[in-house]
Amino acid sequence: MYLDNSATTKISDEVLEEMLPYLTDEFGNPSTLYSIGRESKKALEEARQRIADSINAKKDEIIFTSGGSESDNLAIKGIAFKLRKKGKHIITSEIEHPAVKESLYFLESLDFKVTYLPVYENGIIKIEDLKEAITPETILITIMHGNNEIGTLQPIEEIGKIAHENGIIFHTDAVQTFGKVKIDVEKQNIDLLSVSSHKINGPKGVGAIYIKKGIRLIPIIHGGGQERGIRAGTENVAGIVGFGKAAEIATSKLDEHAEKLSKIRDEIVEKVLNTIPESYLNGDVNERLPNIANIRFKAIEGESLILLLDAKGYQASTGSACSSNKLEASPVLTALGLDPVDVHGSLRISLAPESDEFDVDEFVDVLSEAVQRLREMSPLWNQELDYDGVMCKKHDDCRMC
Ligand SMILES: *Cc1c(COP(=O)(O)O)cnc(C)c1O
Repeated sequence: MYLDNSATTKISDEVLEEMLPYLTDEFGNPSTLYSIGRESKKALEEARQRIADSINAKKDEIIFTSGGSESDNLAIKGIAFKLRKKGKHIITSEIEHPAVKESLYFLESLDFKVTYLPVYENGIIKIEDLKEAITPETILITIMHGNNEIGTLQPIEEIGKIAHENGIIFHTDAVQTFGKVKIDVEKQNIDLLSVSSHKINGPKGVGAIYIKKGIRLIPIIHGGGQERGIRAGTENVAGIVGFGKAAEIATSKLDEHAEKLSKIRDEIVEKVLNTIPESYLNGDVNERLPNIANIRFKAIEGESLILLLDAKGYQASTGSACSSNKLEASPVLTALGLDPVDVHGSLRISLAPESDEFDVDEFVDVLSEAVQRLREMSPLWNQELDYDGVMCKKHDDCRMC
């Protein structure tokens, strides 16, 4: 049972089927003039229309990239370089994806100033903090739509409104929300938006950036004039076609999927919190993605839990895929103000539309058993029980008591 869909998803059969011709006979370069090239160009433009339609944008406001990371880099560096003479201040949140965070660290090395807004215990920024952070030097606000570790949603419509009232450009990383939560770039006051294909049952290595008409930025990949000169390089036609199809499916079934997934998610959370002592949900209960639950267990080492679950056939993760091979504490969970020990004891479960056949009871049983087993071996847990005046189960051989 695969429960790590925030890290990546499986390509759906319909998507693969639509891609196959462009990996075989329809191999033309979209920039050429003869018929096979024109076919590729046509497929490319159809996919562009599909992406545009899914966020209420116009076709020529969509630029294809290699994925969410490149879109984030292009948005942030592209605007910073373009507007560097106007100001060098950028506002973001403490829980951004590394693609945003590292782009900002890089800009800091070039003398840009960045304000990182706190997200508090519920994982959401406060609008007052945003208003206070704005200076005449502020050129860009980049705040993600939905968080990849805890699933919390930021008030992007309001953030965009405040940005525009102050003549500031607003970018949002919508990689986790695209296809799962309604996005309307007009209504939500968005200037730049990053999306990725492999988080919505499309292929890896393809994504897009929405750039509102009239917004200018400096490219980061220079070369041939593809993508209106904003992103050079021969287009990943098959990938783009697959992305377009995945976006169309996700958007047309958005409500249906959201309802189904949030029901499973809520059932998991409820059963886990009720069954496993000292377990807590991370992040706001209401303002969240339908498919992510992040739960922490007292006195548990997350990595050990992952391995025990894997041995029972469940694949979940402690946090983001990008940081799980480093042993540092998750910066997202740390930003919630959690104790470092608690940060290490968190589990992220992320679902996809095909997670239908998920037997919640069975999963909670396995999880509960794993947590219990780890706690029996945990000096922390035993110490904690003793500290609270409760005898640990193995009092005789407990080292801490
Ligand atoms: C996965 C992810 C990215 C990176 O997208 P890639 O296509 O893997 O480069 C960026 N932001 C968020 C929130 C993500 O979840």
